[in-house]
Amino acid sequence: MRIVVLTGGIGGARFLLGVRAYAREIGAEVTAVVNVGDDLYLHGLKVCPDLDSVMYTLGGGADPERGWGRVGESWTVKEELAAYGAEPTWFGLGDKDVATHLVRTTMINGGYPLHQVTEALASRWEPGVRLLPATDDRLETHVVVDVDGGQRAIHFQEWWIRYRADLPTHRFVFVGAETAKPAPGVTEAIAGADVVLIAPSNPVVSIAPILAVPGLREAVTDGPAPVVGVSPIIGAAPVRGMADRCLAVLGVECNAAGVGGLYGGRPDGGLLDGWLVAPEDAETTVPGVTVRAVPLRMTDEAATTAMVRAAVELT
Ligand code: GDP
Ligand code: CA
Repeated sequence: MRIVVLTGGIGGARFLLGVRAYAREIGAEVTAVVNVGDDLYLHGLKVCPDLDSVMYTLGGGADPERGWGRVGESWTVKEELAAYGAEPTWFGLGDKDVATHLVRTTMINGGYPLHQVTEALASRWEPGVRLLPATDDRLETHVVVDVDGGQRAIHFQEWWIRYRADLPTHRFVFVGAETAKPAPGVTEAIAGADVVLIAPSNPVVSIAPILAVPGLREAVTDGPAPVVGVSPIIGAAPVRGMADRCLAVLGVECNAAGVGGLYGGRPDGGLLDGWLVAPEDAETTVPGVTVRAVPLRMTDEAATTAMVRAAVELT
């Protein structure tokens, strides 16, 4: 059995812990196709927040409280950069994390594509699932906002971290998407999958940028595998983070039905065959989609594994 997961960072990483445990039980192979829309250059270093969240979490090196970055982190580099007045100062760049970005940047500058760099970094962490960036090409989520008296496009990370998504916001733009190609292995993995799972990641800024890579969405919708999504929204609120602010920009209601409708049913040209929602959202309907309600809080690996089993069994 082959399982492909489309995923963002923290929520997706936690979900992948359950996918990996389930896959070990049944002897399945897992490929995670990870969002790169959050990627950015900081102080000359290439940073891939979602790839790193997934890699550190599956490798046992993530900070469980923060959810992002390394456990036992120190912040000397960040403090020293601030002492120079080097901008930006709002990004949490930990010392251990910097080592990852140094290795990655050296390899990128040496001409290695991102999927090979990711494979090299993962050889240390042994995540137990194959990690693929959605694309090797530069694809960045920018956000068109009103700030400092004018309309500007800022990087998603600046919108999210510096401004806490709290600016008048017009739209998201996936810069570079038109010319991006799926990273080698991505469409092959989807074509060879027995099931495609959409992690309970942010639909607007984690899953949408993956699907914005030309050919990738079609690989999923036209592929042989059933597609099951897991709602990141329980009741009318994201479990953590600010997905509500992202959905509001698109005019999509922040609930399981809203996100399910945004993904759409496969019979109508959408993505989903199945949609897992939380028990409190059991009344949710999405045209053309099989909806099932199961507990969706990823409180520990066993709970998450049960979610994954329910998702696979929905197909
Ligand atoms: P990011 O890239 O680090 O923002 O992480 P993701 O996009 O992968 O995941 C963020 C989403 O995970 C948020 O919208 C949360 O609502 C969702 N999430 C976090 N924890 C849980 C959980 O325990 N259950 C469910 N269903 N969703 C969760
Ligand atoms: Ca992210």
